[in-house]
Amino acid sequence: MSPNGPNVIRTQAEAQAARKATRFCYLCGEQLRSPGDTRSRITNDHIIPKAVLLPSRDHGDWPFILRVHATCHGQKNSVADDILTPWHRVMSGDSEIYNRQDVAVVRKVCTPLNQQDGLLPATPVSIDTRIPDGVWNWVRGFHAGLFAEYLPNDTRQHAFLPMPQEFLYTTERGTGRRMPGLSVSQMQRQRELILQAIELVSHDGRANTVEFWSGRCTYKAMWLRVSDHFQCWWALCVPNVQRHSEGLGLRGLPWLGGYERTALPDGAIAVSLSEVRAMTHEHDTAYPLPNRGKESG
Ligand SMILES: [Zn+2]
Repeated sequence: MSPNGPNVIRTQAEAQAARKATRFCYLCGEQLRSPGDTRSRITNDHIIPKAVLLPSRDHGDWPFILRVHATCHGQKNSVADDILTPWHRVMSGDSEIYNRQDVAVVRKVCTPLNQQDGLLPATPVSIDTRIPDGVWNWVRGFHAGLFAEYLPNDTRQHAFLPMPQEFLYTTERGTGRRMPGLSVSQMQRQRELILQAIELVSHDGRANTVEFWSGRCTYKAMWLRVSDHFQCWWALCVPNVQRHSEGLGLRGLPWLGGYERTALPDGAIAVSLSEVRAMTHEHDTAYPLPNRGKESG
């Protein structure tokens, strides 16, 4: 990590240094091994679970690991990874990778929508919120590793699934009525803009990056200055993620999302919205991230 540039983790040595520097549990925010802590048992947490990484192919396949409380680790796994892992395996479309049990899990969390209820489903399913919530835990892990700073679970944030999910329906507050979301093309454009901005900022050497598993896993984050706060936009590629978004009607996009912070962490470089608009030659598009973010809870 450079004192002048943005924090990046690209080598195993840098990943080990980040693990050492992260002296708190990124899942609960408490110090590891603090006196009187009954949850003193510490364990290694694969930020991206091993099963999502798929089998190792060569010596460059080292994972990104932070230390956490064993109890927090257990909760993380039982809540989301148990769903995310089979989901990623099934979405790989490779029957060598997934098994019947995986398919059963995915069937349970993906509810087929009635065509008349839903909007033009390229994917006629609604997805269990534990899937984006699970990816949010991964993002919190990357934030902790990059900035040695705890990112609380209730931070205002939004994760876009690498599939057409949210346009299927949005529920009107109060009435519960289903409202149209974005069209596929609007959504595709919005996501491409976010990804393009991240790539351009990354190309300028102003993004925060974690790269591991022989470069097949990459997390890139750019920081945007927005009036009284900062937004971090991130893009996460794991093996097969682009392939399965293609299969679901979106052109090869990774996981994307954003979250808000009141202060810029050490080792992050902020850009302005006007700069992003100039870089992407896009001046008319609405604010790329949902203004309200995802309601936590
Ligand atoms: Zn913990």
